[in-house]
Amino acid sequence: MKKILDNLDGKFDNIGEKLDNIGEKLQKTGKEAMNKTKDLAEIAKLSLAEKKAKKKILEAYAKIGREYVKLNLDNAERIMPEEFDVISAAEAEIKTIIARVRELKGMVLCPKCGAEMDADVAFCEKCGAPNTVKDDIAAALNPVCPKCQAPVEPGQDACVICGAKL
Ligand SMILES: [Zn+2]
Ligand SMILES: [Zn+2]
Repeated sequence: MKKILDNLDGKFDNIGEKLDNIGEKLQKTGKEAMNKTKDLAEIAKLSLAEKKAKKKILEAYAKIGREYVKLNLDNAERIMPEEFDVISAAEAEIKTIIARVRELKGMVLCPKCGAEMDADVAFCEKCGAPNTVKDDIAAALNPVCPKCQAPVEPGQDACVICGAKL
């Protein structure tokens, strides 16, 4: 009986030791995981700092470029014609995009001051000029004969009511 109890004791000792080992391992894994998280956070921070520094360089070069072009436009255009083409094309694209967005938002430009306004208001809220753009759009959508005001179909060369040339 005593032998059996001794044996059992020994087994429990072993289990205790094993549990200690597992605890140590878990602690170690936890520390490693924490260190990894810290490293990842530092990497993210460093990448951001790198991007910021690169952006600073690009901005400085852009400033140098703009100043150079201002001082020496002919030479700049001669040296880098393709870049000037890229700029012109991009500027045209931006204009088209802005105009399309304005159209989608139901806005037009005031014919007098250039401010954006709702397409269907009567007057510009900035300068008070009448919104003639609204009439222009209506006229373009529903053309009429300039002489008798009769409706005109697209592709017509003369008014079918009064014969006026269109
Ligand atoms: Zn205006
Ligand atoms: Zn007519």
